[in-house]
Amino acid sequence: MQAYVFLCLAFLSLTLNCANGFLGKNTFSLRPRVSMAVDSIEPPLRIGHGFDIHRLIEGTPLVIGGVKIPFHLGADAHSDGDAMYHSIVDAILGALTCEGDIGQLFPDNDPTWKGADSSIFMKEAYKRMDKRGYRIGNLDVTLILQTPKVKDIKQGMKDNIVQLLHTSENRVNIKARTHEKVDSIGESKSYACHVVVILEKNP
Ligand code: MG
Repeated sequence: MQAYVFLCLAFLSLTLNCANGFLGKNTFSLRPRVSMAVDSIEPPLRIGHGFDIHRLIEGTPLVIGGVKIPFHLGADAHSDGDAMYHSIVDAILGALTCEGDIGQLFPDNDPTWKGADSSIFMKEAYKRMDKRGYRIGNLDVTLILQTPKVKDIKQGMKDNIVQLLHTSENRVNIKARTHEKVDSIGESKSYACHVVVILEKNP
């Protein structure tokens, strides 16, 4: 019985695939046909997500979105520890695909990047995006920091991002929130950032 069912399915599959070949691409097939050409076509939109987290320690500066923030704690990092820039870079690299991640491009065991200004990484991300023919569609940032409050310096962060990514103010949004005093972020032992970006093909 099982052999009979198998033979029937095999015959049906063979028939449909032959019909597909004769009648064109709109004909139903049990085996999906994947066009090799799709690999070389750049889609009009690409989406990417970036995330970063850094411990907060005494004796280092706190730099977020390129703005130096007066605070008694700063990021424990190989570079300047700007988690906002780092997550933006990873979001763009993710959207571009095949470009790796920030850790691959700028390894944290390479002395070149010791204390580096993270705008260098942003410039590289922009360069790669532009080379592939894309620009920022829009960029949505969620900064998670218990203290200090950043509502008065969000505009400065936004200005920096707009300039580094050669985009406009209405394409960048920065949201900031606390972590409700729970876990390491809520206890000001760390801070984190999420970014979602849509890239659009240059006209
Ligand atoms: Mg980082």
